[in-house]
Amino acid sequence: MTYLAKNYNRKKISFKYGKGSYLYAHNGKKYLDFCSGIAVTALGHAHPKLIKTINAQSKKVWHVSNAFQIPEGERLAKKLCQKTFADYVIFQNSGAEATEAAIKVARRYFYSIGKPNKTRILCVKNSFHGRTLATIFASGSKKMTEGFGYVGGFDHFIFGNHKSLKKKINKNTAAIMIEPIMGEGGIKVVPDWCLKALRKLCNEKKILLILDEVQSGISRSGDFFAFEKSKVKPDIVPIAKGIGGGFPIGAVLMNKKVAAGMTPGTHGSTFGGNPLAMAVGNTVMDIVSNRKFLNNVKKLSKYFLSNLNKLKEKYPKIIREIRGRGLLIGIELKIDQTKFIKNLMDNKLLTIRAAENVVRILPPLNVKKSEIDQAINIIDKVCSKLR
Ligand SMILES: *Cc1c(COP(=O)(O)O)cnc(C)c1O
Repeated sequence: MTYLAKNYNRKKISFKYGKGSYLYAHNGKKYLDFCSGIAVTALGHAHPKLIKTINAQSKKVWHVSNAFQIPEGERLAKKLCQKTFADYVIFQNSGAEATEAAIKVARRYFYSIGKPNKTRILCVKNSFHGRTLATIFASGSKKMTEGFGYVGGFDHFIFGNHKSLKKKINKNTAAIMIEPIMGEGGIKVVPDWCLKALRKLCNEKKILLILDEVQSGISRSGDFFAFEKSKVKPDIVPIAKGIGGGFPIGAVLMNKKVAAGMTPGTHGSTFGGNPLAMAVGNTVMDIVSNRKFLNNVKKLSKYFLSNLNKLKEKYPKIIREIRGRGLLIGIELKIDQTKFIKNLMDNKLLTIRAAENVVRILPPLNVKKSEIDQAINIIDKVCSKLR
């Protein structure tokens, strides 16, 4: 009997504790966690520096209102701005809140310059921007919006279809919002030349570019942000998942131009940016934004991807394509995804599904090479069994 509503189809397994890349289940088994709570536990479980930080802060102050100064938040915002395109930050508690705040910032900017009708946000059909009422309609997926009425203000274009993109821009378009690497959508990487062209298009049409880095950001791609490789500068970037290392934190980063619209009273959040969350965020940021750390993610990624591609050659009837960048990896299968994931789990490797029959692999960013080897062996074994 469970008193939890049935909005999740949960696997029948629970965990007592975690350490590094491993989770220890109540059934006595030890699992290699290459799901990381969906790109959240970026430094694995029970990281000593995060434990130290949260213990220290928990003895000082957990929460104060945003009516007061919060130095821990000031420090994290400064780090985020110095590391990225951003000039200003608003803290939230989750990804959906961050993307929704990004939409508000875009609309408010046009309102503040006397163009109140420019409110429409153009998104990729069947993308993922979260589960609030506005963000499900931004995502434009029938499965997510069915039965939830209607929230207007969003237009959609087909991924990779540049004609449909240009056709959908009109005089009321405020912004284009995309994920530089579609996560839930099946680990689809938007090529760098596309991001560049998108930026150019936004400049020509005088609209804003929002890049949703909730899943692809915080060093997951091997760069701090996935868009960095393309050298484009977005106007607004929502983040969440990895930045808290398991503590719920979201944020929206923005440039000076659009931040001008966010005057006192235009947005707020009771919990957003509280001292406990910010203390943890600072420690995560210090570790993952380091150049050496990023180079190691790139190195591990190269090793992992090349070994997965070898498995693709070895099992052409099972694996269609290896996708992704950094440690945001997808295996597109030719056989049933659910069965494959179950078999990986039976062999003590945790992964998670994505659209297009893709198995998502999201190890912690500080994963060891030997743990990648272990995962490769398990995937090899499962491919061999299901062949
Ligand atoms: C997970 C995700 C979100 C939503 O984040 P939540 O914390 O679940 O609200 C938004 N955008 C992208 C790209 C995501 O992957």
